[in-house]
Amino acid sequence: MTGLATAAELVAEPSTLQHPCSGRSLARPDPAYQISNRAENTGNSSQNLLFLPFPDMLSRNNPRATPPMAHLHTIDMPSFAGRPPLSLTCIESSPFAENSYVLARTDRGICVVFDPGFEPDAIIDVIESNGLAPQAILLTHGHSDHIAGNAALKQRWPDLPILVGESEANKLIDPEKNLSRGFGIDLVSPPADRMLRDHERFEIAGFLFEVHEIPGHSSGHVAFLVWPEEAHDGPPMVFAGDILFRGSIGRTDFPDGSFPILAAGIRERLYPLPEASLVLPGHGEPTTIGRERTSNPYVTAAGDGRGEVT
Ligand SMILES: [Zn+2]
Repeated sequence: MTGLATAAELVAEPSTLQHPCSGRSLARPDPAYQISNRAENTGNSSQNLLFLPFPDMLSRNNPRATPPMAHLHTIDMPSFAGRPPLSLTCIESSPFAENSYVLARTDRGICVVFDPGFEPDAIIDVIESNGLAPQAILLTHGHSDHIAGNAALKQRWPDLPILVGESEANKLIDPEKNLSRGFGIDLVSPPADRMLRDHERFEIAGFLFEVHEIPGHSSGHVAFLVWPEEAHDGPPMVFAGDILFRGSIGRTDFPDGSFPILAAGIRERLYPLPEASLVLPGHGEPTTIGRERTSNPYVTAAGDGRGEVT
């Protein structure tokens, strides 16, 4: 199965709804976020999700643009033990339960934003209410649920640069490739300001970043390994997007997807990391490299996992 719900499935069994990137089940969204799908118009129901964000929710000036569903939580970072003072806030946005993250150096009042999703006002509120100055938007990949907030953040902070893997940058400005067209909206992001190469290391906002390109869910998907610049010899934080989830992996049935490539990337690029490395996925709860290496049912360290998410 594709992981995309059909009209008949939604009517018959709302709990079968799944988001487009992980195949995980979604709670039925608020009725305000349901509109009729395009299946009847296109005659191709398998390519359409059933509930869609209103296009105007992307506008900060529209009353509907402040959705009621963003869920915020603070994430502990035990491996850094408060040295230096950091904060990490996850903003889980509707309608795809996508995780955006604000990672801050609270000692310096600066932060970076990962994967701004469909509820940018909640992200902006986190940044402003904590008196932070954002330094960059970092994108793990270009699927629409991970880039939908770029425009609003750039509107608020015009000089805020967007960084993305060099093989993924084209998705930002292509509604077909970023999967938004299939949802009934033609979403485009401001273009990338900087394209990142595999293995590239750089510093922004008091953090050291290392880029690991791991295709399979999306062709130019990267994971960001991140350390405070004073603590770069310890286990990193791993902003994994839709590569690796707690107990699952990203879907690989998109045109540029490949389960063998994704599995190899996870085994070769992520599982060798220290077991205490905190994994911040694009959907769902945080996990650790040690936990997934020993218990992930889809990709095991030995290569005998369950296989593709379906
Ligand atoms: Zn995705």
